[in-house]
Amino acid sequence: MEYHVKRGKPIDSGRLKKDLNKAGSIAAARAFSEGIEKGAKLSTCPACGSGAHRKLLTIYGFDYHECDGCGSAFVCNPPPEEALSAAYRSAYYTEANKVLYANDSIIDYRVAQVFTPKVEFAIQHSRPSKKTWLDIGCGVGEALSVVKGRGYEVLGLEPNVMEAEYASKRFGIEVRQDYISKDTVSKYRGQYGTISMFSVLEHVPDPNQILSDVSAIQEKGDALVIEVPHFPSISTMSQMTFPDMINRMMHPPLHLFLFSLRSLEGMLERHGYKINAAWLFGQDFYEMMSTLGLFAPALNQSKLLSALSPMMSELQAVIDNHDLSDEVLVVAERI
Ligand SMILES: [Zn+2]
Repeated sequence: MEYHVKRGKPIDSGRLKKDLNKAGSIAAARAFSEGIEKGAKLSTCPACGSGAHRKLLTIYGFDYHECDGCGSAFVCNPPPEEALSAAYRSAYYTEANKVLYANDSIIDYRVAQVFTPKVEFAIQHSRPSKKTWLDIGCGVGEALSVVKGRGYEVLGLEPNVMEAEYASKRFGIEVRQDYISKDTVSKYRGQYGTISMFSVLEHVPDPNQILSDVSAIQEKGDALVIEVPHFPSISTMSQMTFPDMINRMMHPPLHLFLFSLRSLEGMLERHGYKINAAWLFGQDFYEMMSTLGLFAPALNQSKLLSALSPMMSELQAVIDNHDLSDEVLVVAERI
C-alpha cells in the first residue's frame, strides 16, 4: 500500500522538567490493573486472526503478546466483558479523565496544540463529498470543537456521561451516549463524510467488529480517521525493559492493543478502505526519561534534564524518523 507518511510533531519543551516524576501514577495504575480479573488466553490475534504470537511481557498479571502475523501487540488474557466495563466505571479511570481531559485549565491548550494539527492533517488528506463529521468516542469534544470551527456539521458519540456533558456544555456540540453496532448502523448510514476514532480502537476487545460497522455506515470516497498507540516504539521498548514501570501506552487492560502500521493496513483493507496518509509521532523520549527517573530520583530537577528539555522535540524527531514513535494517526478512504 502506497501512501504519504509524515513523521514528527513538536512537543512542549517545558513538559519534561515539569512532571517527570511519575511514581505516584505508577502505584495507582498498578493497584487498578492488579484488581481486575484476567480472562482466558486468546488463541488468535484479534487484529489479524493469526495463531502465531508470543509473549512479550507481563504487566500486573496481563500478558502482552506480539503477533507474527501483523506485527501488533495485544493483551492475550483480556478481562471478561463485565470486568472490563467495570474497569471503565472505576474511580481510577473516571477521576483520571477529569484531571486529564475535562479540565478548564488545560482544555484550550489541548484543543490548540494536540487536536488542531490532527484535524488539519485529516482534512488535508481526505476528500469526502459531505461536510459532516462523526467522532466516535469523542471524549470531552476537543477534536469536534476544531472540526466545527472548520464549518462541518458534527456529532459526537461518547458513553462516558461526564465527558459527554462537558463536551456539550463547553463546545455546544451534540453528543449522544450511543455506540456504533450492528443495531445502530442503519441510524447513521450514509450521513457522515468523515468518521474519526481518536484513541478508541486500542480500548475495544474486537477492533474488526467496529471497523466492519463503520464501513457499513460509510460510502465510497468517505474518510475514516484513526489514532492508536503504535508498536513497536521506544516507549514500549522502555517498558519491556522495566515491565512494572507502566507508561502511557502499555496500560492493561485499558489498552488492549498497540498497532503496527502493517496491521492497520491489513484491517482497513479487509473492511474496504485504503490509507491516504499516516502520521507517526509520540512522546517516547519523555517516557524513556521518566522511566529512568524512577530508578534515579537525582535525575529529576538535575542539570542534565534542564539541558535536555529544550531539545525534546529534536530528540523525539530522531525516534519518529526511525518509525519508532508511540502513536500513529491514519487517514483512510472508503473504496
Ligand atoms: Zn495479528
